[in-house]
Parts: sequence; structure tokens; C-alpha cells
Amino acid sequence: MLPPEITFIQRGWFNSNMVLLRGPRGTAVIDTGHLLDQNQTVDLIRQQGVEPETIRHIAITHGHSDHHGGNRLLKQLSGATIGMGATTAAWFARPEHGLLWADHLGQEMDIVPADVVYQPEQRLDLVGIPFQTIAIPGHAPDALAYYQPDTQTMICADAVWAGGDVGVLNTAVHGWGILDEAEAAVRRLRSYEVAVALPGHGGVITDWQGETAVLLERLARFRAQPAQLANHVVRRFLMYILLRYQPIGRAELTELALAGPWLRHYAPLCAPERTAEQLLTTLLDTFAERGLIRTENGLFVSQIKR
Ligand SMILES: [Zn+2]
Repeated sequence: MLPPEITFIQRGWFNSNMVLLRGPRGTAVIDTGHLLDQNQTVDLIRQQGVEPETIRHIAITHGHSDHHGGNRLLKQLSGATIGMGATTAAWFARPEHGLLWADHLGQEMDIVPADVVYQPEQRLDLVGIPFQTIAIPGHAPDALAYYQPDTQTMICADAVWAGGDVGVLNTAVHGWGILDEAEAAVRRLRSYEVAVALPGHGGVITDWQGETAVLLERLARFRAQPAQLANHVVRRFLMYILLRYQPIGRAELTELALAGPWLRHYAPLCAPERTAEQLLTTLLDTFAERGLIRTENGLFVSQIKR
């Protein structure tokens, strides 16, 4: 399904997926997972028959902590250059912890500055393989997709996930305008011929028009009913915290969830009559009912792959 020069490494939901490129000028990787799992990142690349020391270039799709956490280690091992969109590079240089959600979720992040900066809608040569960048604001205002025209391969980051899903739209940080941006980005992406799409999380997408049509319907529901958007955000942020800190007890999880601004912000949107603590209890009950978490010795453990 994928051309031989492109390898998709699907990871769990705490780490971004990775894409390995084997081109005429060596090997490159797109996105590198979370800092906390940087050794696993290196192992996964080695398991694909690529020595991490030989990587020539690292490209990232956006600045969230789960997409560039392996950059420091991989660069140390290989001397690879690091490329990213101009906005991400600017945010890294300042650094813009708030816009990168580092403050929002209390996430560990190790920022390595850009060696190469890409513009949107730019033709790009990654280790001898031609790509085109596409601006995909919404989930992350700085995000870029990478499109390989000959093989019609779309690396779409968190703008489109399988099942018509999308990375959370964090209106608390970026405002409600990102709903319009996300929709415009999906429409722009749909204008490309795509044989296979490789998202930032979850599995590959082959029915590009079908899955993106489902996503457009989801975005329309978010617009019509902000509670749906808020529920989408809180479920994913809570699962992210679970994956980060598991095994974790209810009291500690509650403390962590209430320490960041997101739960207090979104809880009234989800259900105005319930407090943030009550919402959290409901969310955990729902996770348990759906088999997404289990309890071990009184501690929550996620059933979702980290
Ligand atoms: Zn992201």
C-alpha cells in the first residue's frame, strides 16, 4: 500500500506516529514522539533496519510535545538537521509555551531550534524525495502537512485521523476561530489526490474522501453544539494525562486534572450543571464502562496503547 521509500511507524496515543523516508540522499524521519519515550523512538527506528546514527534530516509537523520529543537525542546521535514550519520555528525560538500547550497540559518539552524553516505551500526535497507542504491550522495553528505527489501519500498530522476524527480543537487557547480554520484545512486537504494518508495518531487512511467527509460532519456538529467539542477535548486530555501518569489513583488524577486550566475551562461547556470534579467522575465512569481504563490495586491504568 505504501511506496517502499516510505515507512509508517504507528505508535500509541501518547507519542505521535513517525514516518521514515529512505531517499536517494539517505534517511529522514517525520515526527519523533514524546521526550519521555525518546529511547523507544530510537529503538523503533532501529527495528525498521535504519541506524538512527545515519538519519540526515528530521521534519516535524507541529510543535506539540508528542511530535518532537526525540529531536534532541536523534540529533545528538546523527547530527541530523531539523526542519519545521516557519511559525513553529518562531514559537520555538521565543519559546511560546502557552501556544504550544506546554503550560496548558503541564507537559515536559525539550525545544531544539530549527536548522531549516519551511513555508506553507512550498516544494520540499526531503533526502531526495519531493514533497509539498500544506498549511493545516486548526488543531495546531502552526501545523504543516507533507504531501508526496508521485505516490499520492499525505502525511496529515493531527488535522485528519482515521474514523473522521481530528486532534483536539483547543478553543480555550486559540479561540473559536480555529473551527473555521480546521474546516478550511480539511477542504484544502480534500482537493489533493490521496492514495494513502498517514495521520499523527491512529491508523492509516485509505478512503480519503470518505473519512474527510465524516470529519466535516463532525466539525459541523462541533459548531452547532459546543458541548460536543468540549466533550471531545476533555476526553482526550484526560486520557493523555492517564497515559502520562498511569498507574494513578483517583485523588492524584483529580488533582492533576484540576491543576491545569483545561478542565475548569471546558467543564461548564460540557455540562453547566456539573462541577469540574463531577464531570471528571462521569468521564472516568464512562472510560471504565467502555473498557478504555481498568483499575489495578485501586489505581487507574489505560487500556489504550501509550
Ligand atoms: Zn498535536
